[in-house]
Amino acid sequence: MSDPPARAPVVAPVVAVIGGGFSGLLTAIHLLRREPRAAVRLVERAQRFGRGRAYEAGANPHLLNVRAGNMSAFPDRPRHFVEWLAAQGEPAGADSFVTRSRYGDYLQGLLREEIGDPDRAGRLLLEADEAVALRRVGSQWRVELALGRAFEADACVLAVGLAPPADLPGAEAAALAAPAYVPDPWASGLDDLPRGQVLLLGSGLTMVDLALALAAPDRRLLAISPRGLISRSHGPTRPSAAPEGPLDTARAALATLRRHAEAVGWREAVDSVRPATVAIWRAWPLAERRRFLRHLRAWWDVHRHRMAPAVAARLADLAADGQLTIGAGRLERLGWDGHGFQAAIRGRGEGKAQAWRFDAVVNCTGPSGGLPGGSALLADLVGQGAVRADPLGLGAEVDAAFRALGADGRPTPGLFAVGPLTRGAVWESSAVPDLRSQTAEVAAAVLACLERA
Ligand SMILES: Cc1cc2nc3c(=O)[nH]c(=O)nc-3n(C[C@H](O)[C@H](O)[C@H](O)COP(=O)(O)OP(=O)(O)OC[C@H]3O[C@@H](n4cnc5c(N)ncnc54)[C@H](O)[C@@H]3O)c2cc1C
Repeated sequence: MSDPPARAPVVAPVVAVIGGGFSGLLTAIHLLRREPRAAVRLVERAQRFGRGRAYEAGANPHLLNVRAGNMSAFPDRPRHFVEWLAAQGEPAGADSFVTRSRYGDYLQGLLREEIGDPDRAGRLLLEADEAVALRRVGSQWRVELALGRAFEADACVLAVGLAPPADLPGAEAAALAAPAYVPDPWASGLDDLPRGQVLLLGSGLTMVDLALALAAPDRRLLAISPRGLISRSHGPTRPSAAPEGPLDTARAALATLRRHAEAVGWREAVDSVRPATVAIWRAWPLAERRRFLRHLRAWWDVHRHRMAPAVAARLADLAADGQLTIGAGRLERLGWDGHGFQAAIRGRGEGKAQAWRFDAVVNCTGPSGGLPGGSALLADLVGQGAVRADPLGLGAEVDAAFRALGADGRPTPGLFAVGPLTRGAVWESSAVPDLRSQTAEVAAAVLACLERA
């Protein structure tokens, strides 16, 4: 994409933030607080702003998988969430795990505060619609909404989260269309899912949620993933200094981390490297990042993304009861005969697949990074050459200032991305402790770009 033509300075910039989950909301808040002349139009297609995929309201019994003390939305106010809980008359220790829906209430509280603040009055506009296209018109973007309206913005931030899980390789079309197949557990109700044998594909934190939600005496759950690894539990930790030793390759980083873990404990070792993961990732060449994803990602994920201890205990009970079995294996084929699923599963290290029958199948493989990932907006941007997939297939390619790179590898003027879409550039880009700093950085980068304009 070519550079914008010369234009008059933007005196009261309008920024469109597409996606009103954690990343979009916090980017909007930082923009409004940093630039008293800026207006933000926050576009969200779901019913509620602020909650995103993770923090739905209502009878959502799921617990956060991060301690309350580490869930503040603001990097410079680490106790903000714990203080908010106390102000609601629900004091909770920094080490406690509260429900995700309560965290969604916190985010909606931030939104209400922002809208009610006289300094920001009228500068945050909520657009309850889906953005379906962004068009470059002169030096601005025209944001087109599904219901037919459109508005102009000086810059746009894509805060659209990640795509739903990818379709299962080996699954026949009839199986993918079957009523008892759940392609995206966060998008569908599970109340009508049959009893009996249920296959959960994936063994990460999505599977853990699903196992807890679906467990019933008349259900048998089988969870499989290529390695059968399962997230570790949180436990007591002490702060530890960063590891000493080389981190310049995936292999060296593993050796350094292992030595450090022997000295200080695995949780402390993993936590000690967290503040540096973005810098380490950025310093690795593409081949090294690929090596990490191929050989170490699964191990890193289960140590890094931990379960609340109460959740780990419940899961252990289900396994002890025989209600849940977790195994290492791959699904080679999935068919549907109108009554049930026939699956061919090859256990890890086994030469031949075994035949299984299931009453229901749930895709718990987690968000896919592929673009456009079913998003009309991303499909349009990729089609225009304004956005391209990052070479690792983790999301959209962005530069160090979170500017989206176009098909020609150059930053697309005035277009930014934030949140899990930027994983290819920074790797750790999915949990609040990472996103709270990133959203502040992205807001600063957007304003710097508008300032230059
Ligand atoms: C089930 C679950 C549990 C999690 N638990 C934790 C946890 O305990 N702790 C933690 O730190 N992290 C957790 N996470 C990670 C979580 O994803 C991040 O914390 C954070 O919520 C990501 O926010 P986001 O705004 O980037 O993405 P999302 O929450 O996915 O929000 C993106 C928003 O964009 C909207 N959108 C997309 N496309 C469009 C469009 N074209 N037009 C308009 N709107 C659009 C979507 O409707 C959505 O609301 C969890 C994630 C999941 C899925």
